[in-house]
Amino acid sequence: MASEAADARSGLTTNNLEAFWMPFTANRQFKQTPRLLVGAEGMYYRSADGREILDGTAGLWCVNAGHGRKHIADAIAAQVMELDYAPAFQMGHPKAFELAARLVTYMPAGIDHVFFTNSGSESVETGLKMALAYHKVKGDGGRFRLIGRERGYHGVNFGGISVGGIVTNRKHFGTLLTGVDHIRHTHDPARNAFSRGQPEHGAEFADDLDKVITLHDPSTIAAVIVEPVAGSTGVLVPPKGYLEKLRATCDKHGILLIFDEVITGFGRLGAPFAVDYFGVTPDIVLTAKGVTNGVVPMGAVFVKKEIYETFMNGPEHMIEFFHGYTYSGNPVSSAAGLATLDIYEEEGLLNRGAELADYWADALHSLKGLPHVIDIRNCGLVGAIELEPIAGQPTKRAFTAFLQAFEKGLLIRTTGDIIALSPPLIITKGQIDKLFDTLKDILQSLD
Ligand code: PMP
Repeated sequence: MASEAADARSGLTTNNLEAFWMPFTANRQFKQTPRLLVGAEGMYYRSADGREILDGTAGLWCVNAGHGRKHIADAIAAQVMELDYAPAFQMGHPKAFELAARLVTYMPAGIDHVFFTNSGSESVETGLKMALAYHKVKGDGGRFRLIGRERGYHGVNFGGISVGGIVTNRKHFGTLLTGVDHIRHTHDPARNAFSRGQPEHGAEFADDLDKVITLHDPSTIAAVIVEPVAGSTGVLVPPKGYLEKLRATCDKHGILLIFDEVITGFGRLGAPFAVDYFGVTPDIVLTAKGVTNGVVPMGAVFVKKEIYETFMNGPEHMIEFFHGYTYSGNPVSSAAGLATLDIYEEEGLLNRGAELADYWADALHSLKGLPHVIDIRNCGLVGAIELEPIAGQPTKRAFTAFLQAFEKGLLIRTTGDIIALSPPLIITKGQIDKLFDTLKDILQSLD
């Protein structure tokens, strides 16, 4: 009803804020006091009232090369004029092949095929369907069970929320996929609070997998899906030896291991992918976000040769995998992906996090001892600060910190009582100092 400016700074009125039903947002609250971004360059956003906001989260963990990259913009513009769209089924165009061939060079030997999607959620669905179909095509169709993990986030589609472990994301949506089981997450503050990098304790959480496998019979299990570092539920870094154990158990029973690297891919941990950082090679790697620097939607699912070849060994002239999207390998996204890789390579960004990791960890862990800080976690250029919950008021402190940070010119992300940080990989040491000085100020004054 009201038509006066809800945000005088942007010129948007309450009326024209209404139509957009915003995702994962408290719409009613937001529309009272909207936070709008109108520009971005390098490490900074510009807010509607003209303030510079230091991007402490690379957008949503995706703008790894920083904002406003001309090389990507030029590639997109040129592609739109040259070939804007090509049918994705039974037709091709060169850039999707070029991008796939370039992407697989980042993977360990043996992972050498890519299926394109448009988002992390679609990469998850694609990976899960591939795993199920792979066993079937191989003649092992009794493997229909999928195993995820508590506190896992695998996007918002039905497969993803079924294997995911965030209760709020699951509970309103019916029965979900059947044949899904979950193992415990690895967060163990009693033994591991304030660990730097990988926690020492907890490899034995992987034994949960043996238990679930025994419960159901190994010959019924198709795949296990985990985020190597659980991002969205607050940066849960795997204990030393944990991923190795999962890999060994999957190998023992012919189960596929899927890494959801939607966040950890493309340099976030200081190595190109978590597979490099942890030295554990899964069978399927799911990515999105950083593949195009977040500029246009795209996801990429990497698979082992053996999986691809199993499908290809079916009858000739038959479609091997009944799955795909109108925009799989879209020319514009492919051009953006190629330009993004140019930047990552020219600027050494996929390993830059390793150079900054110690500086980052020192700055982050210097917040230990501030009021309400009960845990700090880090890995590469990712960090989390966990705050003591307030009884009866979930999420209040961290969200207050988020609001104050925005006013003070810093973008952070919160999930429950946890503040998560994942800046663009171009961040300087000076900007790291600025980020943590601002956070320190805020944490010192939080009720
Ligand atoms: N998997 C993981 C690990 C993620 O972090 C995300 C998004 N944060 C997704 C899947 C879903 O990606 P999207 O929002 O692009 O669908």
